[in-house]
Amino acid sequence: MLSEIVVLSAEGRARGGKEHETRNGISCSGVFPCPHYIYRAFKRTLPQREVDGSSQLNMENGWWQEEESIKLLGQSGIEVFHRQERVEIGQSKVPGKIDGEVNFNKEVILWEHKAWDTRKTNLFKQKGLSAFPWEKSQVNLYMHGRKLEKCDFYVKGKEHNEPYDHVVPYEKDFALSLIGWLDEVILGGWEPQPMECEYCSHCGLSFECWGAEIIDLAGLRQMSDEELSKKFKLGKQYKDFSDWILEEVRAEMVMRFDKQGLGVGDTLLIDDVKVQKMKREVWRLDKRLLVEKLGPTALIEVGQEKEEFSYRIQEVMS
Ligand code: SF4
Repeated sequence: MLSEIVVLSAEGRARGGKEHETRNGISCSGVFPCPHYIYRAFKRTLPQREVDGSSQLNMENGWWQEEESIKLLGQSGIEVFHRQERVEIGQSKVPGKIDGEVNFNKEVILWEHKAWDTRKTNLFKQKGLSAFPWEKSQVNLYMHGRKLEKCDFYVKGKEHNEPYDHVVPYEKDFALSLIGWLDEVILGGWEPQPMECEYCSHCGLSFECWGAEIIDLAGLRQMSDEELSKKFKLGKQYKDFSDWILEEVRAEMVMRFDKQGLGVGDTLLIDDVKVQKMKREVWRLDKRLLVEKLGPTALIEVGQEKEEFSYRIQEVMS
């Protein structure tokens, strides 16, 4: 009963709310990297999504989560400043409002906040902003407007509250293309036709432009080698089986070792298998302690972002 009232009242706010400020129908957060899409946004001929009670609640929740993230950053000694500063991009003055800016290693950089579910967060972890053309356009336009070289793209996990962030660079050519298209469409009367590009699978208009759904095949290649895939499956079966046997035997051996009352450095021989208890000194940098003792900026100063690659090989279910 009460929940229905909450949804209905959100519906009321959605209907009565101020229309998002979009001069000429476009704001920085609605720019997509395709001239035809920009033209459709300018002409207000994009399919309209109705804002109902639950989407209004989701939107409001996103704002509250941003406040929460700012509070948590503040508690960790990191201030988000220049919040909601306005930008106007290009000669067509496309408007936008930034989430804020932060000091990162003695440099002021843009701070953009998103509250995302696990699926989107994982996709961002794997592919960065290349899988998010709207967001990539938005932050590049903001960085252009604020004359900043980097953006801390900060994602708060909706389901588990855990934050994840990644610093992305300003891509000048990308930003200038967007600005050129915006000015040409808004001020120059340009009516660009659809042109197939890497973003066609993202924008939701592929059916209208091409009469078909376009699937993102980036990063996918297919080849045939039955022998190789058979060997992999067989090897994996042997490995799973041997892992299982070893785990069981290991647990049994450790139990027998402990039952003998033996300690570090002692040895138990079970036929020709040797069981020894070893001590390993592990040196680890305790990030939590570092932040506690020297403050969060110390971590930023000594931390380095590194890209590491690994390969996951799995059987595809058919
Ligand atoms: S489908 Fe391709 S051409 Fe059509 S609007 Fe989307 S990105 Fe542009």
